[in-house]
Amino acid sequence: MVTELMDTVEAVKVQDSESGVFIDQSYIEGLLEKAKYTDDRVIQGILDKAERFEGLNHIEIASLLTTKNPAHIAQIFSIAGMIKRHIYGNRIVLFAPLYVSDYCVNRCGYCSYNCGHEFNRKKLTMDEVREEVKLLEQMGHKRIALEAGEHDQECPIDYILECMHTIYDMKFENGEIRRINVNIAATTVENYKKLNDVGIGTYILFQETYHQPTYDKVHHSGPKKDYAYHLTAFDRAHLGGIDDVGGGVLFGLADPYFEVLGLMIHNEHLEEKFNVGFHTISVPRICPAAGAETADFPHLVDDATFERIVAIIRLAVPFTGMILSTRENHAMRGKLLQLGISQISAGSSTEVGGYAKRERQEQSNPQFFVNDERTALEIITELMDDGYIPSFCTACYRSGRTGDRFMSLAKSGQIKNVCLPNALMTLSEFSSDYGDEPFKKKAAAAIARELPGIANEKIRLKATANLERISQGKRDFYF
Ligand code: SF4
Ligand code: SF4
Repeated sequence: MVTELMDTVEAVKVQDSESGVFIDQSYIEGLLEKAKYTDDRVIQGILDKAERFEGLNHIEIASLLTTKNPAHIAQIFSIAGMIKRHIYGNRIVLFAPLYVSDYCVNRCGYCSYNCGHEFNRKKLTMDEVREEVKLLEQMGHKRIALEAGEHDQECPIDYILECMHTIYDMKFENGEIRRINVNIAATTVENYKKLNDVGIGTYILFQETYHQPTYDKVHHSGPKKDYAYHLTAFDRAHLGGIDDVGGGVLFGLADPYFEVLGLMIHNEHLEEKFNVGFHTISVPRICPAAGAETADFPHLVDDATFERIVAIIRLAVPFTGMILSTRENHAMRGKLLQLGISQISAGSSTEVGGYAKRERQEQSNPQFFVNDERTALEIITELMDDGYIPSFCTACYRSGRTGDRFMSLAKSGQIKNVCLPNALMTLSEFSSDYGDEPFKKKAAAAIARELPGIANEKIRLKATANLERISQGKRDFYF
């Protein structure tokens, strides 16, 4: 039955060869319509397939998105939890955003940085970048997402490159940023080459919505209004040498089921063309922001639907990391961590110069309001109390394990042989450098509990020796 459905819908999938657009709106709508008629026996087969970590095809994903059978919905959640535990264990990778410029020439209806919103715009000087980075390093962060609006004059590519150099050069006590992921506007192959040369981690870009009529409606003006140029940004990034890219949509702009299928088709497009799909998928949901038009969106996603979407993405692409930001509150983060999220931000400020402002207790003007206001240390402590291992690992990018090299290791199941020891070593560093006495005790207990779980004896012994060296003040060990 599933194959029959596939055959019918595959026949109408088209790609516009001139614009490069590979998202066929009517194909996705057709999938969602046909999926409503997938019978329960077939859905059970889809769930069995997901349980074998085989991922899912389009019609299978659409069928899980549209099923109303409570028993199947319960199974979706339990399989997502099982996949999460099996592939990612109890490790959660931590990062923080660093906003460097809020100048923007675009008018995106959902964003407070849109050029129609009047406020005092700012771009960090290099001294201010250092000040922010020092505060991030004092929180223990090793991995950041560098964020900027689009503005060729105020924030050209050379400014972004200068920020990256400044950040990588900056060391404060034992602190250092070891991986800079970059989230800037879609750009040219030449600019992607420059980002690659400076040592970008992941290039992150959200499509916001794959539904073109909605895309056209919410992007009022500016270069980002060009759906095709935005959609094909990762193709250009690959041509510029960046083989590590992270996608996402802003849930709430269009039908969320449509968006999930859009994400999956984008992922496959990259796999087919470049042999590697998304390294990560981010799942932000629309939330209020000053100067944004959030009241106008008819597709805001409720909690139950959002949980189900996260779980289905986990089933569909079991080896792709999933990122959640501080847009979600504490309780929702807790639930989603069990269903598939593998990376979260902690102690975030979503404002240019926001970390220094927070330090000075000045009023803020964020891109969006965060719903998890806890400090990084509070979040990290609570992760440990809930049985998770906070990880500050940046090893893959620094060992050249990116793109298809990373994906083949992930799919073979071997990646966890390095993720766990790296998590324990970076937690030990964090604990020594930033933990108070109660935290140090918790971290030591967690490390002692988890260490025997490193299956490879050679790696376990080496990790044990490295942990000893960390306790003596040495830093930066990784596999
Ligand atoms: Fe500018 Fe990005 Fe905000 Fe759009 S989403 S207005 S491009 S900062
Ligand atoms: Fe991520 Fe690689 Fe570190 Fe695992 S070893 S946590 S995949 S960077």
